[in-house]
Amino acid sequence: MTGGGGRRGPGGSGPGGGPARSPGERGLPTPRTAEGQAGLAAILSDPGRALIAADFDGTLAPIVADPAAAWAHPAAAPALRALSGQVGTLAIITGRPAMTAVELGGFGAIPGLIVLGHYGWEQWQDGQLTTQPSPAGVATARAELPALLAGAGAANGTWVEDKGHALAVHTRRATDPAAALATVAGPLAELARRTGLRLEPGRLVLELRPRGSDKGAALTSLVAKRRCRAILFAGDDLGDLAAFAAVRDLRAAGHPGLTVCSGSAEVTGLAAEADLVVDGPDQVAALLAALALAVSGSPRPAR
Ligand SMILES: [Mg+2]
Repeated sequence: MTGGGGRRGPGGSGPGGGPARSPGERGLPTPRTAEGQAGLAAILSDPGRALIAADFDGTLAPIVADPAAAWAHPAAAPALRALSGQVGTLAIITGRPAMTAVELGGFGAIPGLIVLGHYGWEQWQDGQLTTQPSPAGVATARAELPALLAGAGAANGTWVEDKGHALAVHTRRATDPAAALATVAGPLAELARRTGLRLEPGRLVLELRPRGSDKGAALTSLVAKRRCRAILFAGDDLGDLAAFAAVRDLRAAGHPGLTVCSGSAEVTGLAAEADLVVDGPDQVAALLAALALAVSGSPRPAR
């Protein structure tokens, strides 16, 4: 796979034919790595072939105790709407069901937005949802989980979120959430092994889900399918590390790319890996809005 023959870097003329301006002059932060700076420059110089992708929880929506009430930051949908039509591909990649992210985000009317749910197991776009059947291991794990958690002595407040294609065990509501997570981690790893599923850690959650489904695979597949060149991916959690790794691999294959961490005090592991760290969903939305403004007036992407 190659990056194609598009314009390289921010040189030449800017949108509308005027002189090119630096990201800073366009109200955008400067990534701390040279690779990230090149990624941003490539997005700005050729937005019609860019992919702008973000995780949902913790990135576009603040983390709250009840996942059913994790509404997107109020500035997220307007920023995405401003970007739609300005960039070649706009996507949300989440472990949630795609429709949940669409509803919690208020994203239903954003034209062209692609929401990859269950780490790419589902795709929603312009009101159409396509999905693959779940592997048998999910049904086995669903049936066995209640007895397994009881047998492990799971703390009060430990509960299972049934995502259809995946099962997430949350401990955020327990008195000592970290200890509650440690209590169930071993038995869940054993259940994952027996059912052929993968156990994915998150923010006070362990998720059983099909192997081969992660945000990195979903991102790489989207880049190929949409023939994207430059990439931005924003995430907040350990589950986003696979997408960050995919951006690094894609860079090596000729796709300039920028990784953005939605920073929090709760998760620090991702920030060290990111080209750019911003302060939570509020600043992710601000970044997307600034990006939309910076590329407005560029030639419209062909769809
Ligand atoms: Mg997240």
